[in-house]
Amino acid sequence: MRLWVETIRGFIFPVGRPARPWVRLEEPFCSRCAEPYARHAPGEFLCSNCAGRRWSLGRVRAAYRAVGTVREVILRFKYQREYSLRPWLGRWMRDGFRQYYSQEKWDALVPVPLHGARRRERGFNQSAEIAGWLGAKVGIGVEEGLVRIKPTPPQARLRRVERLRNLRGALALAPGFDPRGRRLLLCDDVFTTGATADACARVLKQAGAEEVAALTVARG
Ligand SMILES: [Zn+2]
Repeated sequence: MRLWVETIRGFIFPVGRPARPWVRLEEPFCSRCAEPYARHAPGEFLCSNCAGRRWSLGRVRAAYRAVGTVREVILRFKYQREYSLRPWLGRWMRDGFRQYYSQEKWDALVPVPLHGARRRERGFNQSAEIAGWLGAKVGIGVEEGLVRIKPTPPQARLRRVERLRNLRGALALAPGFDPRGRRLLLCDDVFTTGATADACARVLKQAGAEEVAALTVARG
């Protein structure tokens, strides 16, 4: 598949509005990982998973839950390479940006990287494409500041402990990228356990980033 063919096709046949409902991520949720909480909780709180864990990632936010149509559109974009869905994912990401991050200053959007082999196979990095759409609308530059230096099996097939092990040593700063003193917003399509996002944040923080938060289209 050639990306420009898909892009032109998207202009000629724009994809209609995906069927509603789009399930919103509603409070109360964990102030760190945005895990929804069934009962009412006063003020800010951490879920049991976050309370006992050291995070490099400041927090993660998304406007939607990864269920129903939103989840289906994410999967079609990523695995069936339906590139024409990009504006919808971008708009959903922008909803989250406006709700949670637009009052703060961000120096760059940093997409979660794909390993070169998988990127070639897929034709694009879905996180970079969605971040690109968002960055153009909100006036923040996209910098591909991270690279995968070893291929890792898809995280979705692994248990949590394996996910963490799987990521060890898999990510590095991209050559020439300097995060020192900068506030960076990590972008991805979906946040599930946060293992990948937190591993990205660790690399950026260790290299001197002032703050790393994450924005995704949906919360798993
Ligand atoms: Zn949490």
